[in-house]
Amino acid sequence: MEKKVSKKKMRKSIRKKIVNPSIEVEYSSIDILTGSDLSKRKLPFMHIKSISSGPVIWLTACVHGDEVGGMVVIQEVFKKLKKEILKGEVYAFPLMNPIGFENYSRKITFSNEDLNRSFPGNENGSLAERIAYQIFTQIKDTNPSLVLDLHNDWRKSIPYVLLDPKPGKEEAYEKVKEFSKKIGFPVVLDTAEVEKTLTYSLLKEGIPALAIELGESDVVNEKDVEHAFNAIWGLLSELGIVKSSEEPSKVIISEKVKNKILAYSQQQVSLTSGVIRFLVKPGEIVNKGQPLARIYNPFGKLMETVRALEEGIVLGYADSSVAFPGSPVMAFGNI
Ligand SMILES: [Zn+2]
Repeated sequence: MEKKVSKKKMRKSIRKKIVNPSIEVEYSSIDILTGSDLSKRKLPFMHIKSISSGPVIWLTACVHGDEVGGMVVIQEVFKKLKKEILKGEVYAFPLMNPIGFENYSRKITFSNEDLNRSFPGNENGSLAERIAYQIFTQIKDTNPSLVLDLHNDWRKSIPYVLLDPKPGKEEAYEKVKEFSKKIGFPVVLDTAEVEKTLTYSLLKEGIPALAIELGESDVVNEKDVEHAFNAIWGLLSELGIVKSSEEPSKVIISEKVKNKILAYSQQQVSLTSGVIRFLVKPGEIVNKGQPLARIYNPFGKLMETVRALEEGIVLGYADSSVAFPGSPVMAFGNI
């Protein structure tokens, strides 16, 4: 018979309480796996609570192990929250995929699974589903007002909010749309219904959840960290959890994409093979028909000019300059 482990026991606490009568802080971890060498793998867990009740917010990061910037953003937010939280509670899982992180891999390398295609998880399922289950139940049990899942996109990309297609729960989705506009990044609607992501699975349960792509992956980009910190701090201040900081530096986004919901696209893809040279930068607005990139053969002969199919903003370059027929060259938020 399987023993039922209580949630309280699931958390292996390294409790740390700050000596401040109005703020409670807990940094601890949850056991997720005992390795074959008997070493323990853990999920780092963070929680800050004010004695004044208020909204409950979750920040999650690094579900894809090579998307490292979000963890740093959470560290910065918590550093300031420890002194400045006014009401409510903020929870975080700063490193949801420690196994992928240590191998610079998107996936859980032990089982070659994408953790963000494994939600809401299963207590008795695969390794990824078991980890997803622990994350999902912990979040759900706190009945949060908002969950922000922090990702990083291609190596050369700008920050943007990625909105899931509506999974049926009207009320949570309306809230998410409202929050997404307050973040100050371009808002892009994902075209495919990516079921089994953390945000989509939470939305299905009626919990408002948003994915934010915080720019470049693999290596921490300090400018992206600053922009993400300001965006999240701004949102926390809107909710009354903290006071707003004066004049935060924000991403400057074109009026053409402000307050709009853009459509995600990777079209036009390349039709030939060769080396890609880019003609526009991430963040630029491009017009229909505008040349975006040129593809050359090894002798320098122009094989193809890739043009914009629609008016939109360039979200990022593909992770390599190698083109094959059908490979993506850039991603866009089409207006
Ligand atoms: Zn990701």
